[in-house]
Amino acid sequence: MVAARRIGLTGGIASGKSSVGRLLAARGLPLLDADVYARDALTPGSTGAGAVLERYGDGIRAHGGEINRAALGQIVFGDNAERRWLEQLLHPIVRACFDAKLQALAAEPVVVLVVPLLFEAGLETLCSEVWLVDCNETQQLQRLMARDGLGEADARARIAAQWPLARKRQLADVVLNNRGGPDQLAAQVEQALSR
Ligand code: ADP
Repeated sequence: MVAARRIGLTGGIASGKSSVGRLLAARGLPLLDADVYARDALTPGSTGAGAVLERYGDGIRAHGGEINRAALGQIVFGDNAERRWLEQLLHPIVRACFDAKLQALAAEPVVVLVVPLLFEAGLETLCSEVWLVDCNETQQLQRLMARDGLGEADARARIAAQWPLARKRQLADVVLNNRGGPDQLAAQVEQALSR
């Protein structure tokens, strides 16, 4: 019997995880996304939303009782202690979602877990292999600013809130070099899949 592959796909913010995720999804592989679970963890009425409202007050509430994510981002990316508080709230919820989904997909030979904070949250234990989508620091900054319409200071704060790519590089089983164009990235994804 061939062992099931549980591919942890990580990187830095804007290094290209979603781009790789789209290539893998196009091949029909099931994809589990930590960002979706983190968002779901703050839906109105959830334990997570309750904790955030209790800590930051009604000023963090948007229309329809939703959490105002931009306002929450402003708080946590401007204050390390608050970011850690939010991460400690969300990480166990996200891990529980992965546990449940992986159980439901137990018969699948390959499952991809897209997890920006894979190492930071210790989620590599769910994976049989970890792929890092890598690029250089200037590319990361420029792609982030362009994609999210952020100024340089805000973009740098978001990058600084994660482990640097240089640290993650040493822990990954596969490093996908996204310093080139989309074709080069796609070729590396094919190669990594046939490992
Ligand atoms: P992540 O999911 O890691 O945050 P994305 O896949 O969203 O990163 O990529 C960040 C931004 O950079 C997106 O706007 C994407 O289109 C762009 N991008 C990704 N890879 C490349 C590349 N090889 N060359 C140029 N732009 C890229």
